[in-house]
Amino acid sequence: MTAYATPAAKAPFEKTTIQRREVGPKDVLIDIAFAGICHSDIHTAREEWGDAMFPLVPGHEIAGVVSEVGSAVRRYAVGDRVGVGCMVDACRTCDNCRAGLEQYCLEGNVGTYNDTGKDGLPTAGGYSSQIVVDEDFVLRIPDALGLDVAAPLLCAGITMFSPLNHWKAGPGRRVAIVGMGGLGHMGVKLAHAMGAEVTVLSQTLSKQADGLAFGADAYYATSDPATFKRLRGHFDLIVNTVSATLPMAKYLGLLRLDGTMVSVGAPAEPMEVPTFALMNQRRSWAGSGIGGIAETQQMLDFCAEHGLGAEIETIGGDDIDAAWDRVVASDVRYRFVIDTSTF
Ligand code: NAP
Ligand code: ZN
Repeated sequence: MTAYATPAAKAPFEKTTIQRREVGPKDVLIDIAFAGICHSDIHTAREEWGDAMFPLVPGHEIAGVVSEVGSAVRRYAVGDRVGVGCMVDACRTCDNCRAGLEQYCLEGNVGTYNDTGKDGLPTAGGYSSQIVVDEDFVLRIPDALGLDVAAPLLCAGITMFSPLNHWKAGPGRRVAIVGMGGLGHMGVKLAHAMGAEVTVLSQTLSKQADGLAFGADAYYATSDPATFKRLRGHFDLIVNTVSATLPMAKYLGLLRLDGTMVSVGAPAEPMEVPTFALMNQRRSWAGSGIGGIAETQQMLDFCAEHGLGAEIETIGGDDIDAAWDRVVASDVRYRFVIDTSTF
């Protein structure tokens, strides 16, 4: 199978051939059409989160079409439009797995890349032409969604949907999305569709028109100190998608009584939180990781019902290095998606 792999931390991508396991009884072979580029791909491959396994084929926002199924596969047939997100397996028996929270599997789920599968082989992600996945970790992409705009939903979409759901974004609730990149722009669309009052907090106003078009009610620049004065004590929920550390006290000050700030952005460095910023107004600081398989399907169906896809810039396999640099520079509108037909 053709793939794009990075041979070492910070090394350019190379076109290569990889081996995957034979299609087992419960497996689905997927011809990948599109793979989104998530900032996590970059953190991982550049070893910002620790050692990585090389050669590395990243990609956990996968959309394609089933081309073969194992003898015991019940849910999918050849020709079905499907997706794969950040995990390809889990223990399936722990309390969390049984509650549909496979992302919090107590044994640790199996990552779509940079991990070892239960077959003993290194996992390889979506920057490739095909993938073999157990049907239990495959999602159905509704017909209403194009495969290209659906691919980013498998990580960016679910990573925003899950906390918005859990902390009850909806009518009468004031929600802020910090950082309007891949995750953030989906957060704006989803929170708006859920009926919440949505505010974007971005470094500058350069993407304001887009934010309002995605459904934001307000849009402020965090580079302007007046923003933090104006919005003090305003929000019920802040979802922070920023890939770098933030001055937490300033952001926590934007929460009203019982408000929660949820970190989904995953900077390598720790962030300092002054206790007083939490004690005042009984505020909480929480984290959230992707979403379970059932919730991911729920998110895809919600997006189809509300006509929500990602805003994408489609690129070829040879453009990955340049796209990564643009993501790091916050120059992404709003998700790069690799078209595997260019392989
Ligand atoms: P992205 O497209 O690069 O978006 C991040 C946005 O954060 C940027 O577009 C920018 O928005 C803002 N930003 C970047 N650097 C900043 C800085 N120094 N100060 C303030 N704002 C800054 O990345 P992404 O793919 O959405 O991922 C975002 C983060 O979430 C990454 O750390 C990723 O690893 C993590 N993530 C976590 C999960 C999870 O399960 N929790 C899942 C996927 C990704 P503005 O230009 O609007 O300010
Ligand atoms: Zn991701």
